[in-house]
Amino acid sequence: MSEAGQRASETAQRDAASYEPAREDFTDRVVLVTGATRGIGRAVATALVRLGATVILHGRRAGALDALYQELKALGPEPAVAELDLERAQGEAYQQLTDAIDSRYGRLDALLHNAGILGDLSAIEDYDIGLFQRVLHVNLTAPFILTRCLFPLLERSDDPSLVFTTSGVGNQGRAYWGAYSVSKFGTEGLAQILAVENESRGLRCNLIDPGGTRTGMRRSAYPAEDPATLAAPEDIVGPYLWLLGRASRGVTGLRIEAQA
Ligand code: NDP
Repeated sequence: MSEAGQRASETAQRDAASYEPAREDFTDRVVLVTGATRGIGRAVATALVRLGATVILHGRRAGALDALYQELKALGPEPAVAELDLERAQGEAYQQLTDAIDSRYGRLDALLHNAGILGDLSAIEDYDIGLFQRVLHVNLTAPFILTRCLFPLLERSDDPSLVFTTSGVGNQGRAYWGAYSVSKFGTEGLAQILAVENESRGLRCNLIDPGGTRTGMRRSAYPAEDPATLAAPEDIVGPYLWLLGRASRGVTGLRIEAQA
């Protein structure tokens, strides 16, 4: 990274860390959050609704989505629900989702790719081949397909923001993190390419690394860890909100750490 790039990155990291969410950054902003039913996605979606954003809640389980919808509609603008299993969905389902967002809102202002699966923690030589493919599909290929389908709607926003979720093993190989780590390396590449390709037309794309956070996925990865030592999802939403809202307008191509 150039010296200027390094400085821009440090400034953005500071701005993200110190961000005090303001309603004006979210009023009349349509935001899609994938994997909104649990963990970090749920906390970000809830905070967005409270701040006045119009949130499209994505998940794969109708019951969980309905329960979340009922809970959030009392807190702010009525959210919408988007049911799509990222492991099984075919092109038609992505198109249906795109058409539904188009007919209801006519545009999309921000998209948080948060849904993901861990797969197994095992050596590459033992890694189950089918599971490897599933992890790569849910964590990397599905976000690519969703982004590609939603491009025309993002282009209609006056400040479109794409945010992809990475991890500490997304730019540093670590033994036994297998397909998950590979999928996050791919995510970082995808986000960097999108940022460069779309900078001139104002569509920005950034990465966020939540850091160790008290969720089901973290528990699966570190079963012996004391959860009380970890940040709760609600504690780390600030940098997510900064990237998704108007406050970070013009910021692109960066990797932000939510717990720096
Ligand atoms: P959780 O396991 O708590 O939540 C994952 C979410 O993704 C759930 O809403 C889940 O839906 C959804 N999801 C999983 N598979 C699919 C699918 N096939 N189709 C649709 N939705 C699906 O994870 P976290 O909140 O911990 O993680 C969120 C993101 O943050 C992930 O990308 C993860 O890699 C990343 N991350 C997390 C860290 C942590 O310490 N927690 C650290 C670094 C990165 P359902 O409720 O139906 O299962």
